Amino acid sequence: MNALLPTSTVGSLPKPSWLAEPEQLWSPWKLSGDTLAEGKQDALRITVQEQQLGGLDIVSDGEQTRQHFVTTFIEHLDGVDFENRETVRIRNRYDASVPTVVGAVNREQPVFAEDAKFLRQQTDRPIKWALPGPMTMIDTLADRHYGSREKLAWEFAKILNQEAKDLEAAGVDIIQFDEPAFNVFFEDVQDWGIAALERAVEGLSVETAVHICYGYGIKANNDWKKTLGSQWRQYEVSFPLLQQSSIDIVSLESHNSNVPVDLIELLRGKKVMLGAIDVATDEIETPEAVAGTLRKALQFVDADKLIPSTNCGMAPLSREVSRAKLSALSAGATILREELAAALV
Ligand SMILES: [Zn+2]
Repeated sequence: MNALLPTSTVGSLPKPSWLAEPEQLWSPWKLSGDTLAEGKQDALRITVQEQQLGGLDIVSDGEQTRQHFVTTFIEHLDGVDFENRETVRIRNRYDASVPTVVGAVNREQPVFAEDAKFLRQQTDRPIKWALPGPMTMIDTLADRHYGSREKLAWEFAKILNQEAKDLEAAGVDIIQFDEPAFNVFFEDVQDWGIAALERAVEGLSVETAVHICYGYGIKANNDWKKTLGSQWRQYEVSFPLLQQSSIDIVSLESHNSNVPVDLIELLRGKKVMLGAIDVATDEIETPEAVAGTLRKALQFVDADKLIPSTNCGMAPLSREVSRAKLSALSAGATILREELAAALV
């Protein structure tokens, strides 16, 4: 475990092809019943081993037990009807058939606590668990009950807080909320998005993170990025608010992206989980390229607060590409660690 520049993934990693159809989102399971439960645990064991062999310091579950980072959590809640689906526009970008909120939302029992306990048993390294953020949850649903995005987000924030407390009790070291919607709905971010996130982390003593990105490397997202021009300044809205918040770590996209690197300055004082791996291409970064991205960021974040990471999840990539990218990430971080050590001599 490297104390300086500890490497981490954002969250999802490819699943084995015997568990789910590879290289796609919402991939259907290939197993069922007890065999599926056993398969998910085996996949979790493998992803931990692959991350450790790849030199990752902070280990995640790679989302091996979930079909999707938002819907799998929602499936376990009352008040959401998965039969009654409607087509909505996700993050103003692409249409998807989503479940409908038909009554008061409620979590009857922990969703991921058992999986998190299992992950805890597999490694001595710090573990990170990702949950969807409140705004991203409501953006992946049709609402026929609350009639207010804010009200529904607030209910989800309370539920996420219960879940986060269960994850903390299960031994998770870092709890992350995925809020790609923060890069789209700027007024909502200011009006209630940050407040809902603060509600979700209330009373936690573990470290907390928020991941804000430009999405998986799928066509709808890549097409959208082409419309954003040469400077992506979306983070300018959320970063100053997060800098003032109680969230400990902010995860952002950087490598190969048009995000001006000096926007990181807006987070001064927070830990920065920096995307130094592009998840929208199969091309493997060289360790020097990774180190270059991290080096630039060090003008705007203190070295003891930088966590080298990927731009987003890697679920849609092949396992081979994902493994190679993880190795490149740790090799790049090693280069920079050595530079920093040499500078101290
Ligand atoms: Zn992401």
